[in-house]
Amino acid sequence: MYNVKSNVATEFINHEEILETLKFAEENKSNRKLIDEILEKAKTCKGLSHREAAVLLECDLEDENEKMYKLAKEIKQKFYGNRIVMFAPLYLSNYCVNGCTYCPYHHKNKHIRRKKLTQEEIEKEVVALQDMGHKRLALETGEDPVNNPIEYVLESIKTIYGIKHKNGAIRRVNVNIAATTVENYTKLKEAGIGTYILFQETYNKEAYEELHPTGPKHDYAYHTEAMDRAMDGGIDDVGCGVLFGLNLYRYDFIGLLMHAEHLEASKGVGPHTISVPRIRPADDINPDEFTNAISDDIFAKIVAVLRIAVPYTGLIVSTRESKKTRERVLELGVSQISGGSSTSVGGYVEKEEEEDNSAQFDVNDNRTLDEIVNWLLELGYMPSFCTACYREGRTGDRFMSLVKSGQIANCCQPNALMTLKEYLEDYASEITRKNGEKLIKEEVDKIPNEKVRKVVLEHLHDLHEGQRDFRF
Ligand code: SF4
Ligand code: SF4
Repeated sequence: MYNVKSNVATEFINHEEILETLKFAEENKSNRKLIDEILEKAKTCKGLSHREAAVLLECDLEDENEKMYKLAKEIKQKFYGNRIVMFAPLYLSNYCVNGCTYCPYHHKNKHIRRKKLTQEEIEKEVVALQDMGHKRLALETGEDPVNNPIEYVLESIKTIYGIKHKNGAIRRVNVNIAATTVENYTKLKEAGIGTYILFQETYNKEAYEELHPTGPKHDYAYHTEAMDRAMDGGIDDVGCGVLFGLNLYRYDFIGLLMHAEHLEASKGVGPHTISVPRIRPADDINPDEFTNAISDDIFAKIVAVLRIAVPYTGLIVSTRESKKTRERVLELGVSQISGGSSTSVGGYVEKEEEEDNSAQFDVNDNRTLDEIVNWLLELGYMPSFCTACYREGRTGDRFMSLVKSGQIANCCQPNALMTLKEYLEDYASEITRKNGEKLIKEEVDKIPNEKVRKVVLEHLHDLHEGQRDFRF
């Protein structure tokens, strides 16, 4: 039985409720009156239920779809302006005891090179990332209690935060590791992580169990209830996601929103971010085997409807997606992207050699961080290296109330300008610097509060003079 507040996975992600929602969406896909009502509700920026969002996703009326895209763009502008937060993944280890059929790190893959970074190697990777200009990382490891125990992850986080190299610093470490215990989540919280990220892969229990035939990840309930345990362990910010292409996208889309509703109803705060990865080719993995792969158009629609349904949740796309696709979804709702990424263990120091096959998936967008920053600037976006909220204690419900009221923009805007300025001073190429300075000049004038504008102008000057790390 469906119960949004239950702590049992099959009750808050209830199969029958998803099936009924799918039926409801199918029956109403051309119901102009209902679709207009949902869009009217969405304009209040208070979000939509999974049923309402499912109707929008299914809608087959061209003019209504156009209205939907327009609204997604407006909501994106209202909450996030032209800011795009930058991050990079850091793969610590590809040892894994699970048998996920879509991932080359599955334990039966014998021809992949297994690697686990030592603390010295982590330091080198992080220096390379700092030299690119990154301030925010997402740590990734396979699940392996012997090779990658929680102590290894904690030690690695400590190492990363401790590295001071030139003007660089990693100021926020998000962590994407396997579902674990409340005690381990508390340890991660104490280590100062930003967001705990865990992708559900698919919400369909039957498909989930087939895709995860062996290893601890096989346990659907343990995996699906992980965010509840993370929050019970004191982690305020969690990041959800599904791997589109594993199951039917409509089912997973509904499951994703039900998960968000559950966290909000039961823990008082929904997901901090939602990621929308699509399956990609990799060693030992053929995406053609996954016949549920979604088209670029459907992908764009998923992003647009998510933007409307959860306006206060950051949306993330990685370098799995091409430049063209990223450009399209940035406009529709994505607020955070990775850049200059390596998806293999040790890949920032050693450029992957042809025969090395230790990447988790093929990167589609291979541009350097500087090229991506300049591309964003030329498109009129403001790349931001801001990490201020977590460091100022603006997390969990405190963060969400600022986002929902729209007040967070008063911090995001100046922080984006100041962190972009840092990037331009320390890492940018000449053309990026020129474009960045131009954008900063234009954007400073748009800061509505005179006092804030004055402080930002002072800090921009101080940054040019060599000082670092200002934030609101
Ligand atoms: Fe291991 Fe994660 Fe890959 Fe599964 S998806 S094989 S858990 S690294
Ligand atoms: Fe993100 Fe907070 Fe910085 Fe805004 S001020 S970009 S919400 S960290």
